Amino acid sequence: MTGPSSNKRAERVEIRRASKNYGPVRALDDVSLSVAAGEFVSLLGPSGSGKTTLLGMLGGFVQPSSGSIHFGDLDVTYMPPHRRDIGVVFQNYALFPHMSVGENVAFPLRARRLPKSEWPGKVRAALAMVGLTGYEGRGIAQLSGGQRQRVALARAMIFEPRLILMDEPLSALDKQLRESMQIELRELHRRIGATIVYVTHDQREALTMSDRVAILKDGRLVQIDEPKRLHDHPANSFVASFIGEASLLPVRRVDGSSVALGSTVLRSARTVPNDDGLVLAVHSEKLLIDDGNADPASNRLTGTITDIVYQGESLRIFLALPDGLRLSLRQPSHHGAYRNIPAPGGSITVALHPEDTIVVAKADE
Ligand code: ADP
Ligand code: MG
Repeated sequence: MTGPSSNKRAERVEIRRASKNYGPVRALDDVSLSVAAGEFVSLLGPSGSGKTTLLGMLGGFVQPSSGSIHFGDLDVTYMPPHRRDIGVVFQNYALFPHMSVGENVAFPLRARRLPKSEWPGKVRAALAMVGLTGYEGRGIAQLSGGQRQRVALARAMIFEPRLILMDEPLSALDKQLRESMQIELRELHRRIGATIVYVTHDQREALTMSDRVAILKDGRLVQIDEPKRLHDHPANSFVASFIGEASLLPVRRVDGSSVALGSTVLRSARTVPNDDGLVLAVHSEKLLIDDGNADPASNRLTGTITDIVYQGESLRIFLALPDGLRLSLRQPSHHGAYRNIPAPGGSITVALHPEDTIVVAKADE
């Protein structure tokens, strides 16, 4: 998906060694990040990790304490927000409640003093882009949460900005609407090819939409990669715990391709880091119940089932291993799924393929 954009106005965006101090608080610590023209990059991290601060630097709302911001070849570090040619969408969409949908969407055109004769055509095109054709005359109060969010999007895109910034724009919506808006945003991005930087604390949301995801922790950039690579090659235990659903188990290094989990030696097809604090990240969907059909090369672990939780599309099964360690696995909840799972208290053997045996360095606390 990453690559040359069809959108001629899409801009490459770069943050060079940016830091931000708020008094004693180091909100951002020496972050460098480059976003290609037309790329969709998400900033993902827990609350307080610096996502909004980083986005604010791109928007010009936050001045870096050090470092610089570049759009294409232009240094914009000290350029005020209104001159940056960006579209912005926040969580509380900040629509003007007393204005119609059309007036809201046209607002940036007014601010830019575009001739009034050009407004209706641009408003119509922007509303069509977000699936709200014909909504010009509606009042904001008459719209659902999802429709308001689309109006905010249309407003952010009406002047075809070179960069669109979004800060948790879907977090106020309910789950179903949020998930359908994620797919819509993904399609919209493909269609318009704008450069988008998107803040979220929801890993699934980030993985769904992004070309690449940047993981932040305590103001630092821990890793930036494509979704699958983040999942399969986490930089450390923090990323492994943040992406997917992984049990993290302390292991000892045996050699470059194996580790010891308690008294069990596991083989990994990945290089085992030469590090003191090592963690095995076991994604719950990668564990298979060993019914005799699992790959003979797989590692095997036997434990006692402590709980089986029905979660609709899947079952989550919790296991206690002999060394006091715990892990969980997921099984699709199709008819007969329970047939080869003993009741809690029973013993079960699970298989973990060496390709899925991911060993990472323990992150600093
Ligand atoms: P996130 O968006 O990931 O939740 P923020 O960028 O909002 O994180 O905040 C990062 C850190 O900077 C937090 O510790 C936060 O409390 C602090 N911070 C953010 N904005 C300000 C501010 N205007 N004044 C003081 N501290 C701030
Ligand atoms: Mg934030």
